[in-house]
Amino acid sequence: MTAGLAGCSPGSDSGLPARPAVRHVRCFNGHDLDIAGQTISYDHSVYVPTSSCNLCQTLGLSRSAWFEIDLRFAHETPPTQAELVLIARPPTTKAAVGQVVLQLRGQQIGGLDLWLCGIDRRGVIGPVRVDASYRRRGFGTVLVAAALARGPRYRWSTTAIGESVAGRAFCAAQCWPDGTQPSSPFYCSHMKLSNGEDV
Ligand SMILES: [Zn+2]
Ligand SMILES: [Zn+2]
Repeated sequence: MTAGLAGCSPGSDSGLPARPAVRHVRCFNGHDLDIAGQTISYDHSVYVPTSSCNLCQTLGLSRSAWFEIDLRFAHETPPTQAELVLIARPPTTKAAVGQVVLQLRGQQIGGLDLWLCGIDRRGVIGPVRVDASYRRRGFGTVLVAAALARGPRYRWSTTAIGESVAGRAFCAAQCWPDGTQPSSPFYCSHMKLSNGEDV
């Protein structure tokens, strides 16, 4: 599916790494942004706000600027195709698997599967997928943060997303809520029913 991706990429973006649009204490290079200074801007090629660390810019460091991806900005049909957007694809039946998808100019560049149950206040995050040419830019972290934001104060677990070294590194770098069970999925009875299991 991803063969020849470089030749048919969904369209250029500025190649910035991405972070969830929350207040950041530090930049990618570890500077305290209150001390280093932060500049807010906007990337008009993809219609996404950006931030940069003033000190990183002065020092000419890499990863000095990043996209600020709004986690609430999840809707079914983006207003334009020229955007980098998070989209929620809810399940067709209650507590079944849905998806959180990151889309660039109308094409999916990453996504994850998500089970949510409002009755048991449980969430399960499935494998996180990011197209090879968009990896190591924080998009997987944005997807996980967007999934977690859909179930505040839920108990979370994940499917086996941390078996490879890269997967374990990704898993270990996430800000999981207290009590999360990584790689040990807990499906409530409603999720099991929607998965077609006997309960
Ligand atoms: Zn910095
Ligand atoms: Zn349930």
